[in-house]
This record gives sequence, C-alpha cells and structure tokens, in this order.
Amino acid sequence: AKDQGRNNYRFYAPTMNVSGMERLELENGLRYALERNEMVVYYQPRVNIGTGQIMGMEALVRWQHPELGLVSPGQFIPLAEETGLIVPIGDWVLETACRQNKAWQDAGYPPMHVAVNLSARQFQSPGLTERVREVLEETGLESQYLELEITESITMHDIDFTISVLRELSAMGTLISIDDFGTGYSSLNYLKHFPINTLKIDQSFVREIAIDPYNAAIVTTVIYLAQNLKLKVIAEGVETEEQLSYLREHQCDEMQGYLFSRPVPAEEFEKLLKARQLQ
Ligand code: C2E
Ligand code: CA
Ligand code: CA
Ligand code: CA
Repeated sequence: AKDQGRNNYRFYAPTMNVSGMERLELENGLRYALERNEMVVYYQPRVNIGTGQIMGMEALVRWQHPELGLVSPGQFIPLAEETGLIVPIGDWVLETACRQNKAWQDAGYPPMHVAVNLSARQFQSPGLTERVREVLEETGLESQYLELEITESITMHDIDFTISVLRELSAMGTLISIDDFGTGYSSLNYLKHFPINTLKIDQSFVREIAIDPYNAAIVTTVIYLAQNLKLKVIAEGVETEEQLSYLREHQCDEMQGYLFSRPVPAEEFEKLLKARQLQ
C-alpha cells in the first residue's frame, strides 16, 4: 500500500490554497510528521440544544509544523489522502482520541462520545474493523463511547462493501454518523440499509438558515427525516444565536459550532468540562 501511495501522486490539489513550494515542503514533512510528534488532536464540543450539556466532542487533527505553524486539516488532509498517509495519520487520531476520552472518564467527568473522522481510504483499508477493536481494547474505552464519522462519498463507493464494514463496526457497539449530510450524492434509500445512528447537517446549510429560506427548508427537512428514522441529528457550524434558536425551535438534538466553542486542545477542552461541573 505504501508503494501504491508513492506512485499515485497527482500534482494538483484543487482544494488546497498553498503555493508550489509550500506543497513540496508539506509533502516531505507529512511523511515524518507522525514520528516527529507534530500531529495534534483538537476537540470541539457537541452540545445538547435543549439542556446546554456537553454530550461529546469531535476529534479534529492539526499539524504543528516546525516552520509553517499550525496547519489546518483542509491544507494537508487532501494531500494525505492522495499519498495514502491518511491511513497512519487517521489511525493515530483514532487511538489518541479514544485514549483521551477514556482518560477524561477515568478522571471522573461524565462519560461522553468521541467522534472520529474516517477518510475513504481508511474505510477501504483492510483490517479497519480489527484495528478499531484493537484500539478500544488497548485504550480501555467502551465501544459505545466511540462514534465514527463517514461521508456520503464513502458510502456510495461500493454499497455492499460499505454495508458489511458498517455492520461489523455496529455489531462491535460503536456508533456511526453520516457527516456533511446533504452535500453528497445521497440516495435516501441507503439510509435504511446502513446501521447508522446520527446525521450531521452540513454547515453550509446551517450558515444560511436566517438568510436563505431554501437552506432553512433543507435543515428542517433533515431534522424531520432524522426524527422519523429515529436517528440523532446534529447541526454543524452554528455561529449565531439566531441559528441556534431556529434549530431549537425545530428540535434539532445537538449542535457543534463556534457559538459554543471552537475546536480546542485537550487541556482547553478539560477547562470547558470543569467550568460545566461548577455550574
Ligand atoms: P468536518 O469533519 O466537517 O469538521 C468540521 C469542520 O468545521 C472543522 O474544521 C471545524 O473546525 C469547523 N467548524 C466547526 N464549527 C464551526 C463554525 O461554527 N464555523 C465554521 N466556519 N467552522 C466550524 P477543521 O477542523 O478545519 O477540519 C476540516 C475538515 O478536515 C473536517 O471537516 C474533516 O473533513 C477533515 N478532518 C479533520 N480531522 C480529520 C481526521 O482526523 N481525519 C480525517 N479523515 N479528516 C479530518
Ligand atoms: Ca466530521
Ligand atoms: Ca462535517
Ligand atoms: Ca466538511
């Protein structure tokens, strides 16, 4: 798989806005970033809209680059996908996030879910379910406290394969969510075949709730869809009180967004948990 990654370079990356020099630097650096301990996991709280309680968090990777500073995933995940480096990086995020969540539970905070993003390549890599099982065993985190986020693009790749992997993961007790829901080529039909627990409404719809009736309609429709299918529904990218009150009014379960908190390092996240306990 390593050799395949090397030969599969494509020398463009439309989603990245870095110069050619920076790209080369990134490519070289990315190979060694893990062993040099340059990857960092940030956590963004997921909050119950009715109660304001922190229900869990999403693990979001950053790269602390020695010269470029903190590099956001938008700048290196596409590259990591192309080179196949996303597999070891994603694996490291999974393990780090599970270990951290278990540490918070052991420290006495109320048990929460940690959501980890799975890239298409990771999802298709052999032994994913064994690896998840191993990580849960090694870290001691109970499977019900791990949620795996997949996108519609993964699910449409090879439906039978996707269903079999999702069933294995679900049988293990981990939760599955569909990320960026509404942005992919979704067929609503697959929802009934997939053992999923959560829909995450993409932030592009949430952002325009107050200004675009079309996007507002999509948000309400996804909420109703989730309710009818007995799935949990989470709105991403909530930045304003106005967006929040719309979501509350339409009984969206949880929210994630700058209005409550940006993604923060583990120490900062723990401060949020402490502050909540004192209330
Ligand atoms: P995503 O999974 O959709 O994650 C949500 C993104 O929205 C995060 O960006 C988060 O910081 C951002 N966000 C959250 N609330 C708000 C808000 O109120 N306003 C705005 N404008 N943005 C908000 P981030 O951390 O830069 O990550 C970008 C993407 O990179 C993620 O999108 C995900 O697709 C990918 N990514 C991040 N970490 C990982 C990882 O460990 N593995 C994989 N495969 N992908 C990852
Ligand atoms: Ca996500
Ligand atoms: Ca998302
Ligand atoms: Ca996204």
